[in-house]
Amino acid sequence: MVDLKSGYPYWAVKNGLLYAFPQLDTNLSCDVVVIGAGITGALIADELATHGHDVVVLDQRDICWGSTSASTALLQYEIDAHATEIAKRYDQAAALLAYQSSLHAIEQVGALAHQLGDVDFANCESLYYASHRVDHQDLADEFAWRKQHGFPVRWLSRAALKNEYQLTAPAAILSTIAARVDPYRLASKLLYRMQQRGALVFDRTAVTSIKATGHSVQLKTDKGMLIKAKHLVMASGYEAQCWLSQKVAQNRSSFAYITDPVAPSELGWLATTMLWESSRPYIYMRSTGDGRLLVGGEDEGRDIPARRDCLVDRKAATLQRKVARLFPKLQAKPAFAWAGTFAETKDGLPLFGQHSQYGPRVLFALAYGGNGITYSMLGAGLLRAQIERRPHPLTELFSFARLGYG
Ligand SMILES: Cc1cc2nc3c(=O)[nH]c(=O)nc-3n(C[C@H](O)[C@H](O)[C@H](O)COP(=O)(O)OP(=O)(O)OC[C@H]3O[C@@H](n4cnc5c(N)ncnc54)[C@H](O)[C@@H]3O)c2cc1C
Repeated sequence: MVDLKSGYPYWAVKNGLLYAFPQLDTNLSCDVVVIGAGITGALIADELATHGHDVVVLDQRDICWGSTSASTALLQYEIDAHATEIAKRYDQAAALLAYQSSLHAIEQVGALAHQLGDVDFANCESLYYASHRVDHQDLADEFAWRKQHGFPVRWLSRAALKNEYQLTAPAAILSTIAARVDPYRLASKLLYRMQQRGALVFDRTAVTSIKATGHSVQLKTDKGMLIKAKHLVMASGYEAQCWLSQKVAQNRSSFAYITDPVAPSELGWLATTMLWESSRPYIYMRSTGDGRLLVGGEDEGRDIPARRDCLVDRKAATLQRKVARLFPKLQAKPAFAWAGTFAETKDGLPLFGQHSQYGPRVLFALAYGGNGITYSMLGAGLLRAQIERRPHPLTELFSFARLGYG
């Protein structure tokens, strides 16, 4: 098992174990087996089960105890790669597709959150500022592209930023569409609802082998149980890379801390607007429903779990210093800090679909990148279309083949 995060991340501590799910102790057959009960597996399994597929979900940990419990869960259509970069790497159509789909994904998560209730979902705005003067032109180009294509953005000059947000930076793009959620509650509630509706969800059940043919897939678990399915969805997060002989992403470590609740008068516009910057790695922050400030960033280029966990307090102190520089009057002391692994692809886009190592019956759901949850939402519709043998606009752009893999 890969060590995905430091000890107990915030969402796990805040929520505890919300629901109990059994271990698998019998052989099974089904239409689709989903490995991984994090946010990706939950969204995909929910999409499939809601549309009549017979789904079984398995997780080797407790439900949602992987990266999902460590996520800071900013929901943004502004993915880590600028639209202008995607357009340069691929073409305008690809950039537009990636950005428009991501915008739609935020609405989709919002609709699900509304159905489930009590998952700390809220729509908010997102302020993306230029960290340095040299970033100004890139930001201006990105703003022009988004404006031209009808995205809900506003340009803030240095003076406007100072005047409206009391921030000192060369310029910023304000996006009026973004959201935040408690990812652990969202995924747990989805899985529980699925179970209530008759789908089978098992935790503490590890898949140890996969045999795929052109017609079906057979899995074996650590307890020796066999599962036969027409399709397998590999939603096992950053651990999914263990199943591929080819390296498809770079693992990094990321750090986060959360404050105690802050008085609304002190939090000011941060209560409704998330903040991030053009530097890479970037610092970012957003509020929670109970008025805390969640701050993240300080990523390390490589992920060594033991080193990552030792750095948690030092990284939280660095993040706090950066917050103090931006907001000298805000008391934003860490009440709780943690670290997690995350993975990034070369182009900042995720990998969904088949890989030649396993053939057409195994569909990977690698929602890698800083906008993993937005990608997971998109992957749900995409993989359902693939299972139902329907075309989907994102098939090629999110495929392994686009990067020459598989
Ligand atoms: C610190 C941090 C901050 C982040 N911030 C954001 C953010 O602001 N916005 C955003 O959109 N994304 C963010 N992300 C990314 C986002 O959290 C991830 O994309 C998302 O949580 C991945 O979910 P997942 O379900 O794919 O993986 P996981 O939650 O890890 O779930 C995969 C599950 O598969 C199970 N599994 C693995 N192998 C097996 C096996 N062999 N048998 C059975 N089960 C198995 C694991 O136990 C695990 O529970 C952040 C990530 C981190 C670490």
